[in-house]
Amino acid sequence: MQVPTTPIVRDIVLIGGGHSHVGVLRSFAMQPLAGARLTVVCTDTDTPYSGMLPGYIAGHYDFDAVHIDLRRLAEFAGARYFRDEVVGIDRDARKVLCRTRPALPYDVLSINIGSTPQLARVHGAAEHALPVKPIRRFNERWLALLARVRAHAGVTTIAVVGAGAGGVELTLAMQYRLRGELAALGRDPDELCFHLFSAEENILPTHNVAVRRAFERVLAERRVVLHRGAEVVDVGAGRLQARNGETLAADEIVWVTQAGGAPWLRDTGLALDGQGFIRVRDTLQSENDPLIFAAGDCASLIDRPLEKAGVFAVRMARPLAVNLRRTLLRQPLLAYRPQRSWLALISTGDRHAIASRGWLFARGDWLWRWKDWIDRRFMRRFNELVPMAENAASPPAVAIPLDDAEQTQAISAIAMRCGGCGAKVGATVLSRALASIHPIERDDVLIGLHAPDDAAVLRVPVGSALVHSVDFFRAFIDDPWLFGQIAANHALGDIFAMGGAPQSATAIATIPPGLESKVEDTVFQLMAGAVAVLNEAGCALVGGHTGEGRELALGFAINGLIDERLLSVLRKGGMRPGDALILTKPIGTGTLFAAHARLQARGRWIDAALESMQQSNRRAVPCLIAHGATACTDLTGFGLLGHLLEMTRPSGVDAEIDLAALPLLDGAAETAAAGILSSLQPANVRLRRALQNQPEALQHPSYPLLFDPQTAGGLLASVPAAHAADCIAALRRLGYTRTAGIGRVLPAGEAIEPIRLRI
Ligand SMILES: Cc1cc2nc3c(=O)[nH]c(=O)nc-3n(C[C@H](O)[C@H](O)[C@H](O)COP(=O)(O)OP(=O)(O)OC[C@H]3O[C@@H](n4cnc5c(N)ncnc54)[C@H](O)[C@@H]3O)c2cc1C
Repeated sequence: MQVPTTPIVRDIVLIGGGHSHVGVLRSFAMQPLAGARLTVVCTDTDTPYSGMLPGYIAGHYDFDAVHIDLRRLAEFAGARYFRDEVVGIDRDARKVLCRTRPALPYDVLSINIGSTPQLARVHGAAEHALPVKPIRRFNERWLALLARVRAHAGVTTIAVVGAGAGGVELTLAMQYRLRGELAALGRDPDELCFHLFSAEENILPTHNVAVRRAFERVLAERRVVLHRGAEVVDVGAGRLQARNGETLAADEIVWVTQAGGAPWLRDTGLALDGQGFIRVRDTLQSENDPLIFAAGDCASLIDRPLEKAGVFAVRMARPLAVNLRRTLLRQPLLAYRPQRSWLALISTGDRHAIASRGWLFARGDWLWRWKDWIDRRFMRRFNELVPMAENAASPPAVAIPLDDAEQTQAISAIAMRCGGCGAKVGATVLSRALASIHPIERDDVLIGLHAPDDAAVLRVPVGSALVHSVDFFRAFIDDPWLFGQIAANHALGDIFAMGGAPQSATAIATIPPGLESKVEDTVFQLMAGAVAVLNEAGCALVGGHTGEGRELALGFAINGLIDERLLSVLRKGGMRPGDALILTKPIGTGTLFAAHARLQARGRWIDAALESMQQSNRRAVPCLIAHGATACTDLTGFGLLGHLLEMTRPSGVDAEIDLAALPLLDGAAETAAAGILSSLQPANVRLRRALQNQPEALQHPSYPLLFDPQTAGGLLASVPAAHAADCIAALRRLGYTRTAGIGRVLPAGEAIEPIRLRI
């Protein structure tokens, strides 16, 4: 994440990571607007590039070649990336409503969410047809279809409904790929039978006659049965019927027609066209809300409705980026002028393409190669990214016009940061931010946030002892809500690892200065995330302190309760020779986030790492105890080796780690192999002195990860060997799916070094 150099005064929120928004992100990366914060909310980290999808289906490209990594692109642009589904907009409060996270305020909003199939309009289609849209879900549906066709014995009949460019291209690409798949399995490719349904007499109705004829010939040569004037009106299990009475029994029915606007747009009050798309002016502003823009398939130009094609979505990116900027700068907006005709290169699946522009027609393998070159060059602009700090000067100080009260706040925010002052966040801001956050109430919290005083007062029940722990760290991700959750989870980990039950927490946070409304929202998002996790753990937030600082940071002092009689159960020093070593979560957060900062990690690796960090260790502890665990600790900053040594030393034992058995987060081996390691790694590597056979292990891909510092890591426990397999199976059933036996505890040997690596 990048630390802003000026206080944040305005929020631009982008909904969806379609073809226009990736262009907007790139534009803001090249030309940041100081004081403006960009946030993109999208359901999918890998956003597809439609131009290459047919080539992916045909098997010419792999998944990564046809997807833009939105998380990485956002990081490059200095934008926040929130993976979530937008379900509504509260235009009065100027907030975006998300499925899982708190509402997100905006000053200017842009929507680029593509289109949604309107399957409900055709009887049975929703239940029995496979829609290509939304395009983001297409990959999983395509892979499932691929698997079904491979497994299907005998003839497979596939019906494609919709004979526009998308339908025709998709039919030919699927046929090419599936024939190859069957041939590779030693089966007869002619077992595949394709039917294409066109509601009109002509296929490709928006293209010239020569293009249509060429595709008709290709379809005939490839023995695709074309059904003209056959609008499909009824779909059932394994069959469809057209309005003209034609029927077909089909194993798969692929739907490439009748897309409309997302249903949730209807409740926004934005002006929509007949298909539910957002009506926009030539500035791409909504017809009835100048603070909301729309682009791509989900936008409908009032004066000139356009074909739903990725090419327009791509072209809208520039005017959209300019207009988002100019809206904040209060400057006149730019008009988007769509081209009258455009070049379409439509492929036939077999590395051959047909060109269409107005009356122009051409075909050839060279056209496919040309298209391939154009598409790859386009994708390189989004996927081959160099961190801006290395190749760009700092952003120009553009002044976003503010009203007088805001101006005063902005000036004082700058003054505070320059003075390095760790001043408290204002009481009004704090109380407003915390007003809608509800920590759980507990009977043993005598004085807490519900009746605030100078300090919280807690009761310790008779027979219980207090377990204390504190943790604090800087945000490593530009998402206060998610960071709040992970910070709370990380802090609770120590209490769980001791076998304690969390009772209360006090928070300490630093918030970057800015306009009061921005600070308030950051505090709210941060604490909403944290309190959700604390509440779930039964831990009452009883107080805290919030100051201003350059970087977002959060920590907790946590009290837990433990039955005094159980105190010896989960100490670090209880390991016994013969025990098995069990690790409940994969490792690799240190190297992955170091790589993320350098734009070297795939977004989906970071998604998976964040999910792992959000998983609480709470449910693992009783399971470990039930299987006779003799010692336990949670993995954090010292890495696996450091924390293991903290256990072997007081236990008076040696241990063996099986490097091949270590569960690794996706991508961690790759980023570590690339030499990208956390800044804490060198300090941890000093512990290599504890390894008996370190030189032999140096080349092993998992070796660097022994030292990788973890955030909200899993539990490392020793369990009697006889119970280890059952314990691992039980932990996996509880949701710790990557739990692994990673080694064993040995009697203390002659060697000074206590740890042996199995290679
Ligand atoms: C098989 C096929 C082939 C095609 N080939 C071509 C081609 O060669 N050339 C061409 O120009 N066009 C082609 N098209 C058309 C093209 O796919 C669309 O026009 C294009 O994808 C529209 O782009 P977009 O930017 O509007 O939205 P999309 O590309 O659909 O992107 C929408 C984004 O919004 C996100 N999103 C959606 N809903 C939400 C939500 N509620 N909250 C958060 N995020 C959300 C999605 O995850 C996605 O990232 C093809 C279509 C098909 C079906």
